[in-house]
Amino acid sequence: MNTPDRVRVCRDMSLQVPGQAKGRYSSLCSDDELLDDDDPTLWQDEVGLSNLQGSVYLPDTGRLASATKEDSSQLAAVIKMGWLDKNPPQGALYYQRRWVKLDVDYLRYFDNDKEIYSKGIISTAFITNVTSVGELKFEVATNNRTFIFRAESEAERNDWVTVLQDCTKGRQRRSTMNHGSPLTLDYQGYLELKGLRSKLYTVVVSDKVFLYKNIDDFRIGVGITSIEMNVGNIKETDRRTFDLTTPYRIFSFIAESEQLKDQWVDAMRNAIGEALSNSEVADQIWAEPSNSFCADCGASKPEWAAINLCVVVCKRCAGEHRGLGPSISKVRSLKMDRKVWTEELIQVFLLLGNERVNSFWAANVPPSEALTPSSCSEDRRRFITNKYRQGKYRKYHPLYGNQKELNNALCINVQCSDLLETISLIFCGADVNCSTGMASWPSPLSLASGHSQPLQAELISHNLNTELPRSEIGGAMEAVHYSAQPCVSHNGFLFKTASMARAITERKSREEFSRRWCTLNDGTFSYYESDKNSNPNGALKASEIVCLAVDTPEKHGYENTFELYSESERLYLFGTDDPDSHKEWVKSIAKCFIPASAEPLLRLGFERIGRLKCKDGLNLQTSKVGWFALVGSTLHAYLEDSQGEEIHLRKLNELSTQQDNEVLVLVERGRTLYIEGERKLDFAGWCGAIQTAAGSGGDTLSQQQLTETDIPVIVHSCIGYITQCGLTSEGIYRKSGVNSRVAALCERFRRDARSLRLKEGEHQVDDVSNTLKRFFRELEEGLFTSEDGSTWLSTAAIQDESKKISQYQMLLNRLPRVNKATLQALINHLYCVQRFSELNQMNLHNLAIVFGPTLFQTDGKDYTAGRAIEDLIQHYTLIFEVDEQQLKKQLEEITVIIQVREKLNTKFPSTEPGGHFICTVYLEEKKDTAEQHVKIPGSMTAAELTCEVLDRRNITVKDKEYWSCWEVSDKEEMERPLHYQERVLPILHSFGTDSHLLIKKNLAMEAMIVYLTSRVDASKHGMMKFREERSILGLGLTSGSFHDRYFILNSSSLRMYKEVRSNRPERDWPVKNLRVYLGIKKKLRPPTCWGLTVVYESKKQERPERQQWYLCCDTQSEMREWYATFLSIQYDGNVWPQDGLQQTRVSRVLPDTRHGNVSLIPLRGSENEMRNSVAAFSQDPLALFRDVR
Ligand SMILES: [Zn+2]
Repeated sequence: MNTPDRVRVCRDMSLQVPGQAKGRYSSLCSDDELLDDDDPTLWQDEVGLSNLQGSVYLPDTGRLASATKEDSSQLAAVIKMGWLDKNPPQGALYYQRRWVKLDVDYLRYFDNDKEIYSKGIISTAFITNVTSVGELKFEVATNNRTFIFRAESEAERNDWVTVLQDCTKGRQRRSTMNHGSPLTLDYQGYLELKGLRSKLYTVVVSDKVFLYKNIDDFRIGVGITSIEMNVGNIKETDRRTFDLTTPYRIFSFIAESEQLKDQWVDAMRNAIGEALSNSEVADQIWAEPSNSFCADCGASKPEWAAINLCVVVCKRCAGEHRGLGPSISKVRSLKMDRKVWTEELIQVFLLLGNERVNSFWAANVPPSEALTPSSCSEDRRRFITNKYRQGKYRKYHPLYGNQKELNNALCINVQCSDLLETISLIFCGADVNCSTGMASWPSPLSLASGHSQPLQAELISHNLNTELPRSEIGGAMEAVHYSAQPCVSHNGFLFKTASMARAITERKSREEFSRRWCTLNDGTFSYYESDKNSNPNGALKASEIVCLAVDTPEKHGYENTFELYSESERLYLFGTDDPDSHKEWVKSIAKCFIPASAEPLLRLGFERIGRLKCKDGLNLQTSKVGWFALVGSTLHAYLEDSQGEEIHLRKLNELSTQQDNEVLVLVERGRTLYIEGERKLDFAGWCGAIQTAAGSGGDTLSQQQLTETDIPVIVHSCIGYITQCGLTSEGIYRKSGVNSRVAALCERFRRDARSLRLKEGEHQVDDVSNTLKRFFRELEEGLFTSEDGSTWLSTAAIQDESKKISQYQMLLNRLPRVNKATLQALINHLYCVQRFSELNQMNLHNLAIVFGPTLFQTDGKDYTAGRAIEDLIQHYTLIFEVDEQQLKKQLEEITVIIQVREKLNTKFPSTEPGGHFICTVYLEEKKDTAEQHVKIPGSMTAAELTCEVLDRRNITVKDKEYWSCWEVSDKEEMERPLHYQERVLPILHSFGTDSHLLIKKNLAMEAMIVYLTSRVDASKHGMMKFREERSILGLGLTSGSFHDRYFILNSSSLRMYKEVRSNRPERDWPVKNLRVYLGIKKKLRPPTCWGLTVVYESKKQERPERQQWYLCCDTQSEMREWYATFLSIQYDGNVWPQDGLQQTRVSRVLPDTRHGNVSLIPLRGSENEMRNSVAAFSQDPLALFRDVR
């Protein structure tokens, strides 16, 4: 640390501090912090300096009057607190009196017991030792620093030492600050705190902001303070400055640049969002009273849960649960792991609750073994292992031991709502993957879903891989969910590196490997110091192995290496110089962990093999276990209950990652497979390998990424682009592009053709046309293949026309599949180009001159090659046996495109009555790869649009699935399912650029329908919290807050009363003019998460009016009831089609295919965006060429 600087700072300040503050200030000078670790300047430097800052900044007067309640989340976990004297810094004499608080994660000390923000914070994970020293004192040691505290009494000192030791004992020190679960730091860097002369290292993580003196302190886990963002608010104050306001203090930060400021502001706002939404799940779960106490030790407000065991536990118990491994306990945070908390999972926890579920798990706990909130780590570990790994205290199911009966009982029970019985059955041995014997619902999971028991399905889905409790420790492994090959055994020497917790990014040299005797026996792979030792250095059970990857030779110091990935996220690297031994090991290990059902995978020459969780298009609710092997560009898969299948990675329509890289999405013809990152380490390996395998593999045609119809994506993209933007370009294909840009495009396509979208404005017509030419010219083997190329050329010389054509046809049929499809697509394209030669000047002959030498890869000195191409284009319909009608349609489409473009070029387009519009619609999620470009005729209803998109993705609609089209506003954080009969076009017209259409299921619809059918008439009254959007001084700032109001909603109007007894409504809105959205933007701090945003639009001629206001309900079902009532009134009771979407799907009138009057006019945006939209349209394979090939 920088002592001279500190001293200088001190001196500088003393000059500025006026006399009256001096007493206080001098005491500061002797404060350890100036010389040692805390930074008093953070809190006290403004004394006397800052009349400008106003009182809010000063520590003593800084607490705003309203902030009487201490931040509960900081208090909740406090294990011990009290006054202690903290050691004087080097050279100083006096101890400082500090208020010290300990929770599981941090030891903090404060100026006094009123302070919210600490002077120092030490991560308990970094405390290496706590010992009593001398009189009343004790030492808290971290790797780099020792803190000495002095208690007031011997007893007090001993108590501190004990709790500190308990709290730090057995905790693994981590390399960086650990904040609980596997979290990523959201944003970090140096940031200046106004008034402080040195910058602070600031870290935004999840819902907190941590301040450190510098990055070194951050690394060793010793900081200044943390700020809970649930009480925070961010206000930008200047170009580089912003305030983080809390009820207790305002932190004024100065970023290094405007741009960085924006990033800080974003990061901190996200943290606030995180903090606010965080407690939503916890609050909901705690609504069941027994869930607000740890299921294992009884500690209050437990923030963690084992989602497969259905218990809510405290942080310390959660740590022990994690130690059991995810195959026994899947630990998730109520506050941080937001994604896992689906509506269903929350309901499961509410219905079960700690008390009921403990009636199973803890039916027989001897009082002597029970935990208390203060139990030490060792006791916790023992108890939790007994309870869940061994099932020692559980209540045995009457059918225990009778597998068949248990399975049977499970199949019956999942059709009803008794979740506790399901828990009891599963954890007494019923096989969740057993066969139900029913073809339509082969597994308990599908059975539950099929019988509308989503909660049962949710519960089962978290237990598909759960290891059963078993009392015999160290006994044979019982991986009940799959049967491993029994008697594989193998042994020999291998070279092994230390196991790792992260992927191997560097070459491991020979020195890093050590020789180990390895054995594979009884389903366990063990390694020993030598073949003389009887105790293994380590062992992996077959059931723990999740992936085996074979490295390319010479990747590391040993010639042949392979990687083993374990369930507990460790990676083991083994090597040998003997290729045969390598092969044998790979074979044997794979054999021991791949189940019989996926046995054919073992016969493949795989690069990677293992188990992954996945979902596919037919059932997105529940994931299943799949066994995969990657061989070249083919992914072989054995999914639960299915025959083996192959996925050709180069032919995928899309390959992308979703949800912060936690899901890999593979879209192939007619189906989408979602592979989930159940564990980070092996999943990352799979993602990398699959992405590489899906890229183009070389310079031959068949090694390219291909479209569904076997055309290289690069060819398809270029042709589509030229068709859209280049047909009227004079000298297209003859003119050369800019060489560097063409080279860059080629490279970009080579890297990943699928991800490149050619866009007008961004890419030039001549660059694209030359990219296509260069691709063919440099193609290894050539389009016509090296064997047959010359025969094609000599055919051109045949005089007899019909003989010539049949010779071409013969040659065409001899081409490999990909070559044939590509040639046809290209000739079709060139045929179209020359049909518009009056615009582009490229007639048959001109095109042949260009493409002859390109496609035949000749020097072009004579016209032989050109003549062959001329033949192919001229006799295109004959040689390729083209349907004339299709071709005619295609040419008409092109004509339309050209006309539209002309119109775009002349003036901003006008809408023709009855015209179509192209609009981007997303499926399930807003992202590029989920885009669909749909022509929207004026008559199209929301149901028709929904069906159109579902059809395109081949998604079948099941019973009780309410697929809807949603209007989503990102800015307002609200969404609304369009009524199925609602016309889409006016909605599109009405919304701005921050809204989009999304097709997804309406999960609330069933509940709403049930509610409505239970009602005699559609009306509702009750309390809601109301807030209005008000603009202050026309600045667009909003103010106001939520207030309780009484509402009456009936068939004509919504009336708002100040209270129940009020006679006269404060407000009265006609229902039909209200548009009700789900959700309220977080910025407005809605008091509950069940909010509605209501837009009132009066379209009165004389005074059109628009108001927006907000309603908040206390519960989700309340909100749904209000929403359902609105819907029912607005649509006269007809909220959902009687027969679901099926009728729409069948009777839907497909968009008009006559193109004479089509206006392909995008809806909004600049002219440039509109052009892009037209270009994007051409990228949609459905749009133009689908029917032609
Ligand atoms: Zn606990």
